[in-house]
Amino acid sequence: MMRLASSHNALKQHYDAVVVGSGYGGGVTASRLARAGKRVAVLERGREVVTGEFPTRFPELRNEMQIHGRKMSSGAETALFDVRIGEDMHVIVGCGLGGGSLVNAGVALRPDQRVFNDEVWPGAIRQDGLLDEGFRRAESWLAPQTDPRATEMVKYKSLEAAGKALGDTTTTTRVAVSFEERVNSAGITQPACTRCGDCCGGCNVGAKNTIALTYLPDAKRHGAELFTHIKVRYVTKDADGRWRVFFSMLSPDGRSVERDGEITADFVVLAAGTLGSTEILMRSRMQGLALSDRLGTRFSANGDIIAFGWGAKPIINAIGIGHPPKLDGREIGAAVSGHIEYRDRENLAHELNVQEGVLPSAMAPALPLLFLPNGRLLGALQSLIKGVYNGPFAHLQTFFAVSHDSASGVFHLDDDKLTLRWPGAKDEPTHRRLDEKLTALVEQSGGTYVKNPLAGTIMGHQPATAHPLGGCGMGNERAEGVVNHKGQVFDGTPGRSDTEVHAGLYVIDGAIIPRSLGCNPLYTITALAERAMLHLAADFGLSYKI
Ligand SMILES: Cc1cc2nc3c(=O)[nH]c(=O)nc-3n(C[C@H](O)[C@H](O)[C@H](O)COP(=O)(O)OP(=O)(O)OC[C@H]3O[C@@H](n4cnc5c(N)ncnc54)[C@H](O)[C@@H]3O)c2cc1C
Ligand code: SF4
Repeated sequence: MMRLASSHNALKQHYDAVVVGSGYGGGVTASRLARAGKRVAVLERGREVVTGEFPTRFPELRNEMQIHGRKMSSGAETALFDVRIGEDMHVIVGCGLGGGSLVNAGVALRPDQRVFNDEVWPGAIRQDGLLDEGFRRAESWLAPQTDPRATEMVKYKSLEAAGKALGDTTTTTRVAVSFEERVNSAGITQPACTRCGDCCGGCNVGAKNTIALTYLPDAKRHGAELFTHIKVRYVTKDADGRWRVFFSMLSPDGRSVERDGEITADFVVLAAGTLGSTEILMRSRMQGLALSDRLGTRFSANGDIIAFGWGAKPIINAIGIGHPPKLDGREIGAAVSGHIEYRDRENLAHELNVQEGVLPSAMAPALPLLFLPNGRLLGALQSLIKGVYNGPFAHLQTFFAVSHDSASGVFHLDDDKLTLRWPGAKDEPTHRRLDEKLTALVEQSGGTYVKNPLAGTIMGHQPATAHPLGGCGMGNERAEGVVNHKGQVFDGTPGRSDTEVHAGLYVIDGAIIPRSLGCNPLYTITALAERAMLHLAADFGLSYKI
């Protein structure tokens, strides 16, 4: 398997463009700037984990967890799953060359147009037609599709049956997965999905259309240099207008800092995700960079939850078998094969999207223990005896649900650590609506709704999201947002006009999305990044073909 990352020795003192982070925003940006002939460096804090190296056993999975709270930290800073324990809400994001795409379910849905009609978006997003072009490009590069055999999957059938009894329609879900062997837009041959269900632990087949298999190899092929184990701390502007990027180089095991360093660039694109980009801008502000007062506000969890049903009558098969398969002759399906959309034409905020999900195979041994605190001791013991694929855990239902929230979370930098405050998070009305729908679906299958099996652990009763959005939200002007519709960072220097930007400084990732989307965000983040690149090219007389 071809590796993309270069050795730290190859890092130069100056680049035309430095891209910080390598998820959807970073991947698109690096590819497009490199295609436009710019000398690009991508700085990613995580490791390069290639196909075949994702965790398949629980001890490996445990080593891929980094958990950070206000008063505690554990695990390597380069571990694949970055869990932030918050007082009001927990957040989980991916970490590695490819960002969240390495460990996500790949669900690629486009939001309802009413989302973009919200005045919270800058008017240009609705008016210049480039958002549609962004989605077209995202479509051709991420190649989302529904599994042609989705409706045969047991987990799909069980959602369909429960939904039907309640009068709801289940539809197949578009995921960024190759269901047939193909050569992708970056020229990489991807094998067909084996329907092993391990997408959220990392695809060991190479069938998930991650950023590491699409935009990043394309960036490299066009000359971009990619570096891992580099954690950017903040940026400053030199007197000549160049940007200076300050970072820490992490040790190979990700557990310590080897040395600090700095490089310069004409363009800096922060694409470190909602948490990373907000944190870098907050630190940059402490170093004197004048920014909008809106920095850190409008955090949305995208009304996202993961929940379970215990004791369903039918077999569900919602635990991955991995690759190589831990069980012969069973197909699970991609992490999501089907979903139910609960539409509300009158009130967008009431819409819900409930997806049947799969837990990765490496989690299997931990499941009986996870479910102990909720009193299902007997079932857990039976599973220990029969194994999770045949005991009560074969009947475990997993749901990923997405909806709308009020985007009222606020980030702060406390003791140099990003913290999230959202005292009303668990009382957001969407949780009640989701609980009602999920309870009905689970009971229809003969099971019991388990909102949070982790409640008895360090996670407590706070909600958790894997879809953090906002913190550097877009706006028409500085008083409304941190960046404009192109991702350019507003200049907060007193006396500057309301729309003036810091030339050459961008945020292009989930952080710029100013509200919940009501569907999974990767497709929108990719489209907004493609759109931002079209604007950047037009503004600076660059051109590139894709
Ligand atoms: C388990 C899971 C399942 C999900 N399923 C779906 C799904 O099915 N569909 C969907 O649409 N979304 C899903 N998501 C969410 C989706 O993956 C994210 O919304 C998306 O990855 C965000 O893209 P991004 O470009 O904003 O940043 P990210 O993809 O988060 O990438 C940011 C990168 O920046 C790096 N970084 C952070 N700080 C620094 C720093 N200081 N210096 C250098 N690098 C830094 C990070 O390590 C990371 O690699 C899921 C997420 C998880 C965790
Ligand atoms: S189901 Fe398995 S093979 Fe298919 S994309 Fe997910 S992890 Fe890869």
